[in-house]
Amino acid sequence: MPSAACTECGAATRESADGCAGRFRVLLALDHSHRAPWGPRHGLAFAAFVLQHPRAHEEALDTAWATLHRIYAVGEAPAVVFGALVAGRGAVPTYWETPSRPLAPIQPFDVTIADLGDVDAATDAERLDAWCRATWAAWRGEEPAALALRDAEASRVGRMRAWVSARR
Ligand SMILES: [Zn+2]
Repeated sequence: MPSAACTECGAATRESADGCAGRFRVLLALDHSHRAPWGPRHGLAFAAFVLQHPRAHEEALDTAWATLHRIYAVGEAPAVVFGALVAGRGAVPTYWETPSRPLAPIQPFDVTIADLGDVDAATDAERLDAWCRATWAAWRGEEPAALALRDAEASRVGRMRAWVSARR
C-alpha cells in the first residue's frame, strides 16, 4: 500500500482513511483507560496533536500553545500546568504570561505522531516529550536549547520587573 503524508504534520501514514486522527483516537483511548482525563500525558499528547494539526483544531490552538509555553519555556512541571487547567475548567490561568502565537508553525516538525511507534510506545514519557519539544520548536522556529535559555532569561527579567514595580 502506498504511504500518504499527512497534509498537516507531514507524517507518512500507512493507514488509509484518517491516519493521524485515527492514531490519536487510539492513543487517547489508551490514556483514558489508565488515568483521569486531562492528566499530564493526555494533556501533552493533546497539545502536541492540536499544534501539529492546526487547521483541524483551530479552537484549541491557543490553549495548546500556552500549555507548551508554560512547560517548555517557563519550565513548570506538566502535572502543575494541567492541574491549573483542570482547576480552571480548561481556561488558561490569568497569571500565565504567554507570548502571542504565530499564525502557523515556522518549521517542519522533526517528530510526528507516526514517530511515536506503536501506540503503547506513544504513552512512553520520553517519546511524548520528544513529540512535544519538536512541536514547540517548530512553532517557535528555534532550536529547543536556545529558546529555553532565552525564555529563562526573559522570565527572570519579567519577575525582576514585577518585583521592582510591586515595591514602588
Ligand atoms: Zn498528521
